[in-house]
Amino acid sequence: MRLNYFHVDLNKTVDELDSTVKEAAGSSHVTKIFLRLGEYVTLPKATLLSELHKRFPTASIEVQETFGKVHCLCGYIGKPVITRDSDVICLVCPKCKKKYPHVVEGDEIELSEIEVE
Ligand SMILES: [Zn+2]
Repeated sequence: MRLNYFHVDLNKTVDELDSTVKEAAGSSHVTKIFLRLGEYVTLPKATLLSELHKRFPTASIEVQETFGKVHCLCGYIGKPVITRDSDVICLVCPKCKKKYPHVVEGDEIELSEIEVE
């Protein structure tokens, strides 16, 4: 699962993760959930964790935070310059100074692995 936007809906995200985990686990008991959380995702990690703990109270949840990477039209690939205006994140290409280069990493909330018993 990959959500291609920065502003994510908490309930929708948790619902989607919940059904993805349950689908993957089948009738097995989920003991561990591994997530990847991109640095540009505005959802606070603590909020996401506490909501998932409500759904899976006996599972431990590990979050790996991923760094952002952009691919600009000028050919630049790598870390962008990040400016924050309160809640809004603006990414700028450090080479040509263009705003909003295409994000290739850092905007994802992904279920990377689960452990069951
Ligand atoms: Zn550029």
